[in-house]
Amino acid sequence: MFSCWLSRLCRGLSTPTGRVTHLIQGSLSRRLMLSSQRRIPELSSFVARTNTCGELRSSHLGQEVTLCGWIQYRRQNIFLVLRDFHGLVQVVIPQDESAASVKKILCEAPMESVVQVSGTVISRPPGQENPKMPTGEIEIKVKSAQLLNTCKKLPFEIKDFVKKTEALRLQYRYLDLRSFQMQYNLRLRSRMVMKMREYLCNLHGFVDIETPTLFKRTPGGAKEFVIPSREPGKFYCLPQSPQQFKQLLMVGGLDRYFQVARCYRDEGSRPDRQPEFTQIDIEMSFVDQIGIRSLIEGLLQYSWPSDKDPVVVPFPSMTFAEALASYGTDKPDTRFGMKKYLKRKDIESLRKLAADHFNQEVLPVFPKANRNWNSPVAKSIMEEQRSELIRLMEIQEDGVVLLTAGEHRKACSVLGKLRLECADLLEARGLVLRDPALFSFLWVVDFPLFLPKEENPGELESAHHPFTAPHPSDIHLLHTEPKQVRSQHYDLVLNGNEIGGGSIRIHDAELQRYILATLLKEDVKLLSHLLQALDFGAPPHGGIALGLDRLICLVTGAPSIRDVIAFPKSFRGHDLMSNAPDSLPPEELKPYHIQVSWPADSEAEKSSLNQPYHPES
Ligand code: ASP
Repeated sequence: MFSCWLSRLCRGLSTPTGRVTHLIQGSLSRRLMLSSQRRIPELSSFVARTNTCGELRSSHLGQEVTLCGWIQYRRQNIFLVLRDFHGLVQVVIPQDESAASVKKILCEAPMESVVQVSGTVISRPPGQENPKMPTGEIEIKVKSAQLLNTCKKLPFEIKDFVKKTEALRLQYRYLDLRSFQMQYNLRLRSRMVMKMREYLCNLHGFVDIETPTLFKRTPGGAKEFVIPSREPGKFYCLPQSPQQFKQLLMVGGLDRYFQVARCYRDEGSRPDRQPEFTQIDIEMSFVDQIGIRSLIEGLLQYSWPSDKDPVVVPFPSMTFAEALASYGTDKPDTRFGMKKYLKRKDIESLRKLAADHFNQEVLPVFPKANRNWNSPVAKSIMEEQRSELIRLMEIQEDGVVLLTAGEHRKACSVLGKLRLECADLLEARGLVLRDPALFSFLWVVDFPLFLPKEENPGELESAHHPFTAPHPSDIHLLHTEPKQVRSQHYDLVLNGNEIGGGSIRIHDAELQRYILATLLKEDVKLLSHLLQALDFGAPPHGGIALGLDRLICLVTGAPSIRDVIAFPKSFRGHDLMSNAPDSLPPEELKPYHIQVSWPADSEAEKSSLNQPYHPES
């Protein structure tokens, strides 16, 4: 009974507002604070304010409060709206002579100046309440005010509805962060990460371990960023993930590792990628694929924001082959099947897209009830094949089938892209196919262990990474038909986005050496430390990494991962605020034995660097 009451109260406290907070603070807070898991965030401890702007309600009437915040609006020199991360509150500017100095401060400070005000919480006069504002029933009758800092003319207004280009937002990121949307995204991210830590460390005994960011080039995988060292011709690399370290931790007996890990990939720009990004990186010993999958399902369920529909587990799973054949991709958006309502002109635009972008011909088929296919392809397909297709595709009377022919993977992938294109077309017409409030998780499993190298299809590369173990039932094929070997690699997909991936690892040094040297033709010397470690009693192990930026982006419904990262890079990998990457004068490069070979069109930059360098300028 007590625990039920308490948990209800604590849930009510996730935004500490109103009467409930005070009740709790009065009677229970000491007990709760003494418990190892503090449940009430004290938003005003240690600082000059007594309350946040957003938390005041009628239940605070009569209380003397001190608030700190930014000036959001001023109306007729009578009202001022003060803002902090928690919300807005109306402040009444005193008009009487005795308060002239307070009035002067509050009326003269430019918008976005920072002020501290002290006064009494009073109710708004009848009829002047603002039901749209959570604090709309009250206002602050100010007694004293202090201007903490003024604000110069801003490059844009700090109001979410004021449109600004992303470049301008990134250039003045510290101002952009003041928006409610950015505040919401970053605070939700922090809360989810905290819950993840709690789940992993407190509930399941994981150990949070930091691994180096100065590492060396490793074979396979993404392109790495190179860091010069003072030893001639020697370079560090930034790790594309802590993969080797987490496996070495398993050899070291730290059998449940996790890290909120920063990873770096020099992969050029893509809309949902950043050159540096964050992973929830996990590794466990003595685990199988099902164990990892259950752990992640529990982790997401536990850390999922309470204002969203709860996560339902276990997540469905699909093999890679099935995903490719049915959805044309290894990351299907399973929120929708494929529906009708396409118009003739849509079909034409889809055909054009396939031809222009993928060099692939696509034919539409309109298999009407009379079986007289309304398509140029009809005459090349026999009657039985037509009925079989209709049966297989579960086609409805007025359905449309888009047919293509060609190499399996390529043909599937074009159709997969057209499926998404159809969804765009239908949604533009008002049909909701991809409900943003729906979170459709899917495990994709049984990937091939190897894929043909893009640049040289005669050679193999790892589909995941070279440490992934082969599927136990396919091991015998490794020596004869390596392309047919499936792996113990699994990906987690959410609404058509890959949000995680991992595998059971190879813990047998011989097998690892064979895959690296013979099948992947990699230089095993570069990995001798790992191969040696596997030989010294490495336990069976496996793991996974969740892409935190992408996950939070989907949870918040943000348009880009840059909206859930405090200081992201631009599309071209630049920091538009500080101008990184930046040039260095030649004398600064000398200790690294590096000389820049300047492209012909960069004379100006080169000559500016040859000027004597003053670090403080
Ligand atoms: N290191 C892998 C990655 O970053 C994840 C894993 O296999 O655990 O994709």
